[in-house]
Amino acid sequence: AAKDGGRGRHHFYAQDLHSDAQERQQLEQDLRDAIAHGGLELYYQPQVRVTTEKITGFEALLRWKHPRQGYLSPAKFVPVAEEAGLIPQIGEWALRTACHDLSKWPEEVRVAVNVSPLQFANPALPAIVTSAIAAAGIAPGRLELEITESVFMGDDASTEAMFAALKGVGVRLALDDFGTGYSSLGYLQSAPFDKIKIDQSFVRGATMEGSRNGAIIAAIVSLAEALGMETTAEGVETLDELDLIRMLGCSHVQGYIYEKPLPPAAATERLARGLTAIAQGPRSARAPR
Ligand code: C2E
Ligand code: MG
Ligand code: MG
Ligand code: MG
Repeated sequence: AAKDGGRGRHHFYAQDLHSDAQERQQLEQDLRDAIAHGGLELYYQPQVRVTTEKITGFEALLRWKHPRQGYLSPAKFVPVAEEAGLIPQIGEWALRTACHDLSKWPEEVRVAVNVSPLQFANPALPAIVTSAIAAAGIAPGRLELEITESVFMGDDASTEAMFAALKGVGVRLALDDFGTGYSSLGYLQSAPFDKIKIDQSFVRGATMEGSRNGAIIAAIVSLAEALGMETTAEGVETLDELDLIRMLGCSHVQGYIYEKPLPPAAATERLARGLTAIAQGPRSARAPR
């Protein structure tokens, strides 16, 4: 190996120059294949009411088992899908699949589906949502759409019209990753969110002893309460974080402390068995993934 090291290394560098573009192109092609052959899956992570520790719903999260690289994070392939114009297709599939899976779960359970800003900008979205709901035969109020702050970067009039149309359909709206985008608090005044999801970067490492993140969470909770919105703390992993979230009055929790995202059958089983915190590990240890 040492002998042909020079040549091998040369080859390596040459490839490296093109690797970013090539890798992306390959990923895009693999993603097209996955869409065509049913290679995408939805996993479901429980959302838990803080006071009762009951599962009130699941967030649907995309999973893609890449043929050679194993499971890829949606944080990696969703941006590729957005750039390649594949999001409308993937997004509609996710909506239909989530509604279909939800139709097998008890009435009081909801499902939350992430909606890309590109989907939000599509005037056909309300019709697509209506069709997914009708096909699954579920009540519209059982579907929650998770939207990020970035939708407020677009045209004000069409953003407002989209909110009105979605509310007209009867679905719930959640503001995802709150506090991580270009927040102008002004938009909260008029946007009809039912729930604010507090990003895990604020939850992470927030401790009882007056941490800055604790102060930020407290402020978000009181803002949400004043506006009549629920709050979900995302990414809660430790008992200390859970204690703080409880103390600060968040209405819901989603995180490994309770459960990781599960395949549909496992989610069904989790519902049947009920859920009490796996919150029995050592105080500051991270919950297993
Ligand atoms: P998100 O919507 O903010 O989803 C929450 C992410 O936090 C998920 O990552 C979830 O697995 C992860 N998470 C939950 N609990 C914990 C915890 O206790 N600790 C840690 N460290 N992480 C936790 P995931 O599944 O990798 O998804 C990443 C992002 O990809 C999502 O962030 C969302 O923005 C996007 N995404 C996922 N599915 C879809 C989809 O169907 N459509 C669109 N447009 N985007 C999606
Ligand atoms: Mg989300
Ligand atoms: Mg989030
Ligand atoms: Mg996120």
